[in-house]
Amino acid sequence: MTGVTVVDHPLVARHLSVLRDRATPSSDFRRRLSDISMLLLYEALRDLRVREDAIQTPLETTGGMRLADEIVVIAILRAGLGMTDGALRLIPEARVGHLGVYRDEESLQPVGYYESIPRHADTAEVVVVDPMLATGGSGVHALERLKRDVVGRLRFVCLVAAPEGVQAMGQAHPDVPIWCAAIDRQLDERGYIRPGLGDAGDRIFGTE
Ligand code: URA
Repeated sequence: MTGVTVVDHPLVARHLSVLRDRATPSSDFRRRLSDISMLLLYEALRDLRVREDAIQTPLETTGGMRLADEIVVIAILRAGLGMTDGALRLIPEARVGHLGVYRDEESLQPVGYYESIPRHADTAEVVVVDPMLATGGSGVHALERLKRDVVGRLRFVCLVAAPEGVQAMGQAHPDVPIWCAAIDRQLDERGYIRPGLGDAGDRIFGTE
């Protein structure tokens, strides 16, 4: 599908299998999610701009590099929190923001209830993270919100996507590329991705 990269790597596939397994306890789930997030973000940030920078080794001066642009990671609450630790291990200089979005029971529309977006330069690279791209409601809403203020480049990184969510994001935000570990079969009538991995927030935080 246009605009979506499914990261094809044996380690990504292995981590995802463990995450799907209902027998994986929350402690392992969190660690695996952090590790797979690093791998997904590594791929998603392949084209980051760099600047040359001279480095003094203990022996001499040599050519080094630094990232040219600020990196801002925006986690969609609450499951996106499970990806921020991996993001920060990969990019220690990144700053992290949060967007809380819930679905109104009556209108079924996404509603923002919390936001904290770090100040950043116009050139910043802004990566939105949320493990499950299901209906696409939260993702579409989060990107709409960010586009009001954010002038930097936007990307979306998730773990598992449903075809319905990919389509919704592609229609609303065709300019925002998506990375994921898998595109699953479908959404079920309760909005769960099948085969999926269940409720990512519950699995991260041990809630039911
Ligand atoms: N959110 C989840 O955590 N899991 C799904 O399957 C769908 C949405």
